[in-house]
Formats: sequence, structure tokens, C-alpha cells
Amino acid sequence: MRAQPEASHYINGRFVEDEQGAALPVIYPATGETIATLHSATPNVIELAVEAARAAQGAWAGMKPVERGRILRRAADLLRARNDDLAKLETLDTGKAIQETLAADAPSAADCLEYFAGAIAAYNGDFIDLGGPFAYTRHEALGVCVGIGAWNYPIQIAGWKSAPALAMGNAMVFKPSENTPLSALALAEIYTEAGLPDGLFNVVQGYGDVGAALVEHDAVAKVSVTGSVPTGRRVLALAGSKMKHATMELGGKSPLIIFDDADLENAIGGAMLGNFYSTGQVCSNGTRVFVQKGLHDRFVERLIERTKKIRIGDPLDPETQMGPLVNKAQHQKVTDYIRIGREEGAKLACGGNVPSLQGFEEGCFVEPTVFAGVRDDMRIAREEIFGPVMSVLSFDHEDEVIERANATEFGLAAGVFTRDLPRAHRVISQLQAGTCWINAYNLTPVEMPFGGYKQSGIGRENALEALGHYSQVKSVYVETGNVDSPY
Ligand code: NDP
Repeated sequence: MRAQPEASHYINGRFVEDEQGAALPVIYPATGETIATLHSATPNVIELAVEAARAAQGAWAGMKPVERGRILRRAADLLRARNDDLAKLETLDTGKAIQETLAADAPSAADCLEYFAGAIAAYNGDFIDLGGPFAYTRHEALGVCVGIGAWNYPIQIAGWKSAPALAMGNAMVFKPSENTPLSALALAEIYTEAGLPDGLFNVVQGYGDVGAALVEHDAVAKVSVTGSVPTGRRVLALAGSKMKHATMELGGKSPLIIFDDADLENAIGGAMLGNFYSTGQVCSNGTRVFVQKGLHDRFVERLIERTKKIRIGDPLDPETQMGPLVNKAQHQKVTDYIRIGREEGAKLACGGNVPSLQGFEEGCFVEPTVFAGVRDDMRIAREEIFGPVMSVLSFDHEDEVIERANATEFGLAAGVFTRDLPRAHRVISQLQAGTCWINAYNLTPVEMPFGGYKQSGIGRENALEALGHYSQVKSVYVETGNVDSPY
């Protein structure tokens, strides 16, 4: 199976290669096959990309917002029209089941492009009446923005960053995760086909050092990273040292709270979506599932029944519900945590093994795993695992569970299942998390801001909030009389 793109990088509207850069093999996580080989960006490639973005940005920012929006809208249509091919590419790159990549990856990027295509013309400044004189504000582009992506939702992340950046009149240089470099190149080609002027969306490949070189570049005004907390800290420090704007979408260990009166099947469905979708590699996952004592045993029993039915295997088979983890390192990390959970005394309720699947012996598969009887102080309840490992904890009272849910350095997401709506709103208002759900989990429509509290991040993606993070406000005071000067 090959998925070799024309070249490694996409700069100024065309593919660019520089074989001097270190080789980056692209591995299909289901079989271990090398499906493409790319090259990491050399300093020359980084310079070309930033310069192309810098040169193109001014004229783009000078276009009418509605014209910029029209191009994004055409790109959204192309993403939807090519969804089958893009889903296959994303499955080969990430290992995620095709039934997910068809529904959640390019479609989410398309939703985002479509949203900002329409929203940008209505994103205007304020008129401020000063009783004669007046002031107004302008939202102005920042210039060249850098996007750095994680490997779990490659094209979605590229879309979520580039759409608001471009709509606002910026140019972008995007560096995908070196694990999943392919679909950002496909997005770049689509932008060009949709009529985006050359230089406005560039893709350069590489490891963290390429990301760091981009962040450090003097011509770059802003960086938006999706990744882990340690990476976020490093990038934010570097951006801060040069007074650059920064958005950080980082990791989590989010609580999902299920009260006794919740609809049992819906609550289990939410918990499974919030732990097993994308083989558990979702930043907002509700990996600490707190279940109230009265429902706890029935919840665990039924959860096991439903979890055992998850179909794991060939990611390209439309019937498959769970593919492998992204690579061997992540597989090692997740299986280590399963071992740690056992050693810490959590009860392995189901899963926990590496399945043997014919034809996929080299794949990075692990069974969907549920630990019950988990205590707050266990590592599996405190650290982000980023795999299909759910921890179930029990609780008695509302105040108790709020305190325990908040006892974490993270604050990305949280969820509550209950039929008592006043309680749902009361509890959500006290949870320290940026993205919350009531009687649902992990739905992230573009209309809703997405991002974290505490160590989980700074800034927001999606919704009008994202435009604020890709622009700066200029205030203009206008005198309508004479200048009142004492001199
Ligand atoms: P990493 O933090 O390892 O990497 C994220 C990106 O940053 C990669 O492209 C990486 O390149 C790059 N990078 C690494 N070091 C630097 C540096 N010093 N300067 C600039 N760029 C750098 O995250 P993963 O890719 O492993 O993704 C998993 C993490 O992402 C999890 O913690 C997850 O929770 C989080 N995440 C957060 C989301 C959110 O929206 N809040 C959504 C999805 C994931 P390379 O990979 O080549 O090293």
C-alpha cells in the first residue's frame, strides 16, 4: 500500500522537495508497512515557506473579507467531494477506523472552513460614541501564523487552525506531526484548487526542531499548537521570549460524572465515545468516569457487555469500530499504563490485552480496556494515557465529586449525565474545564468554542472566539471638533 505524495513540502502553491532533510518514514499503524517516505524540512525549506507566507499575506489581508470567505467555501466543498479519498488517506496515516475517518476528519475540517467562510464578513469592529468625537475598532490580521499539529486528527487540526487564520487575512505555515504528515498536503492542494493565492497555506514537515525553528522565526507573529502539555510549555516559553501571540490546545484527564438518575444506556454510550473513539486518542476524553454509588454496579456490568462487542481489526473494513494506536511508542505507553493500573490495584473489568489479529501481527492494537475500583491517587487516574483505557471511580455526593473532578492540573473538558437539569447546570458551572457537555460527550461542533483551562491550554479554537485569537484590535479615535490643547 503506497500513499507517497509528490514531494514532502508544499510551499507557494506547489510541492517542494529537499532530500538533504532527514528521512521521515510514514508507517501504516495496522501493519507496520512503510507507505511513504518524506524528508524533514531543512533551514532552506523553512525559510522558503516563511518568506512565501510573508510575501503573500499583505495582498490577501487587503481583499474584501467576503472574497476571502468565498475561496474558503470552495475549499470546503472540495473537501466534502473528496471525502472518501481523504478518509482513506487519514486511515492509512493514523490507523483510525475508516467508519470514523469518513464521518469525523475531513468533514470536521470542511465544517470549519464553511463556518469561517461565512462568519468573516460579519466579524467587524465596534463604533464607540464619545459624545461628539467617536472611536472605532478594526480587527486586523497578525501576519504570518504557524500551526503545529498532533497526530490524532491531522486534517481536522490543519483545518481548525488554517480556516480562522486565513479568513482573518493571515498566511499560515503548518507543520503536521511527523507521525501523520500526509493529509495536510492534500488540504494544501485543495486550497490551491479552490483559488487560494500561492503562499498563503504552506506545509513543512519535520520533528519538533522544525516546529521550534518556525516559532522562533522573526517573521512569524503567532503560533497555534495542538499537542501535549510539555510541548505546549516549551513552545509558549519560546513564543513569549519574542512576544508572539500563542494558542495552546493541550492534553487532559477529563472527568465524566454520572449521577444515579442518569439514563443508563446514554451514559454508557457517552462514556464509551469519550474513551474509545479514535482508539482513545482524543485530548478531551472523559477518562475519569465518576459513577454515583446507586448506579455504579449496574453501570459497570452493562459497560463491560457493550465494550466486549467493539469490533477491533482491519481499519479499512467499514465494519471495524476500533483500529490500532498510532505507532509502536504509543502502543508501549498504553500497555505500560495497563500494567501500572493492575499493579496499583485497580480491577481490570475487561480488555487489557494485545489482540492477535491475522494479517495484522505487526499492528499497534490494544483491546478497549475498563478499570473499575480506581482511586483518585492512582497514576491511571491522574496521567493522560491517550489510549482506549477507561477508569471508573465511584462517588456518593455532588460536592464530593466536584472537588475530586477538579483535583487535577488539567482542565480541558468535563461532562455530566443526569436527568436533573438544575443539578447539571449547577455542577457544570463549578467544574474547572473549558469544554463541557450535559448528557453528551465529545461533540465539538465548530459553532462552539473549544479549549482548555489550567494546564490544558490558552486560547480557543472554533467559533468567533478563534477569530479573536488570529487578529489584533486597532482602536481609532476620531476628533470632530477642534483640538483642546493647553499649549
Ligand atoms: P506532542 O506534544 O508530542 O507534539 C505536538 C506537535 O508539536 C508535533 O507536531 C510535534 O512535532 C511538535 N513539537 C514537539 N516539540 C516541539 C517544539 N519544541 N517546538 C515546536 N513544536 C514541537 O503531541 P502529540 O503529537 O504526541 O499529540 C498528543 C498530545 O496532543 C496529547 O497530549 C493530546 O492530549 C494533545 N492533543 C490536544 C488537543 C486539543 O485540542 N487540546 C487535540 C489533540 C491532541 P513531532 O511530533 O514531530 O515531535
